[in-house]
Amino acid sequence: MADLDWPAIDRFLMGEAWAGSRIPEYRDHLCHEIGPRWGGSEADLRASEYIRDQMEENGLGSPRLEQFQLDSWEHGDASLTVSGSGESLEIKPFLRCPQVDVTAPVVDLGFGTQREIEAAGKAVNGAIVVMNLGPEPFTAPLPHTARLTMAAASGAVAAVVVESKTGGRMEYRSANDWRAPGIAPHPLPTVNISFEVGGRLRYLAARGASARLQVESRFFETPANNVVAEIEGDTWPDEHVIVAGHHDTVFGTPGGNDNTSGTVAVMEAARVLAALKRETGVGPARTIRFGTWSGEEQGLQGAYAYVAANHGTNGRNSPPRFALNLDELSTGHMKGVVVMNEYMRGFMQAQLDTMNDDLKCHVQGPLDAHSDHFPFTRAGIPAGILWRWRFHGRHATSEFHHEPGDSAQKLNVRELKEYVGQISRLMLRLSHVPPGDWPENPHTADEIERRSVAEVGTHTPTFHG
Ligand SMILES: [Zn+2]
Repeated sequence: MADLDWPAIDRFLMGEAWAGSRIPEYRDHLCHEIGPRWGGSEADLRASEYIRDQMEENGLGSPRLEQFQLDSWEHGDASLTVSGSGESLEIKPFLRCPQVDVTAPVVDLGFGTQREIEAAGKAVNGAIVVMNLGPEPFTAPLPHTARLTMAAASGAVAAVVVESKTGGRMEYRSANDWRAPGIAPHPLPTVNISFEVGGRLRYLAARGASARLQVESRFFETPANNVVAEIEGDTWPDEHVIVAGHHDTVFGTPGGNDNTSGTVAVMEAARVLAALKRETGVGPARTIRFGTWSGEEQGLQGAYAYVAANHGTNGRNSPPRFALNLDELSTGHMKGVVVMNEYMRGFMQAQLDTMNDDLKCHVQGPLDAHSDHFPFTRAGIPAGILWRWRFHGRHATSEFHHEPGDSAQKLNVRELKEYVGQISRLMLRLSHVPPGDWPENPHTADEIERRSVAEVGTHTPTFHG
């Protein structure tokens, strides 16, 4: 790295990220022109083509779509009707909720802990149960996925989960633990209800109400696209580092925060680094690859497909030295990087220190399967994230995802410009670290897989969804 004029490179990258920014244009196209883009939908396919076209226009090397088969799902009408009065309560199905039409007594399980399930006794068997999304406070937190599994084991026929956020908000959520291998079936049909309407349901449940829960849904296979482009390395072109994020959203939201922010940051980092090479002749030493994935909201399927096609047993490429995942960047200023394994901490902190911005490297303790770094981690590839839950001092706007309120305005243009500059500086530095200076990866894919399975049902630190 010694022969490069890093202050001049940093001035170019930060200046181009700021003054040459195309963030508003990308945001508007993805959020307003295309809008919600459920993985595999026509809008999602259009988004992938748009991103590839922009990569092409910005001079990236071999921009391409990598198609995969997505195990998908969609829902139709969903309703909860109180027996007798016919009162209808607004609900939203959990993602991949199976089709259901059941009429049953409604039983309030509070937080849905084992203690509360046992206290309710036989009443749980055959019931529609109500429980809080959030775990019981002051005790070891148990994820809602684990509590739903316990309710199902006690005979509950469906679950209504009461949203923690107030103001009538309801998110699309998942009832599965993504640390389990494959895509597990739902523990039981599950729907979300707002904090306020959930209070009404609990009032009625305490008075012995029964209700009819109906969800129309279907599972199907459909093609979806990942987008991949690169800037070839000048010194070690066969080695690479990758920065990526998912471009799909859930239904009914353009995903300003989740994850137009990360998608646009990938597109912009690619543009800025390509401009550096074109205008100053300074390129990466090892290849930098840029990716945007579909199907993240459906069990990280796009990133799994990419890792399998490129780095699996018959993969086309050797694995990256490092994979950086960008998800939900409406979180205030960039604060650092979270690596998935302790052995990377000192190395990554040393890279960040050369940037002189007080950026911190943290380490994820128990494995975290909530975004696209996980398929890389699971394959034994060193990975990291920039992600809102890992840091304090986040914005209120980063509290929006998986709901209509995650609009284009949730993406903060000026802060995202800063991210783009910082990410470009970091990726270029990583591309120039000689092969012998990287720490040895002591973890195998088999070992990580065993850890992953062992940690199913446990709480992921700093994630409170
Ligand atoms: Zn996301």
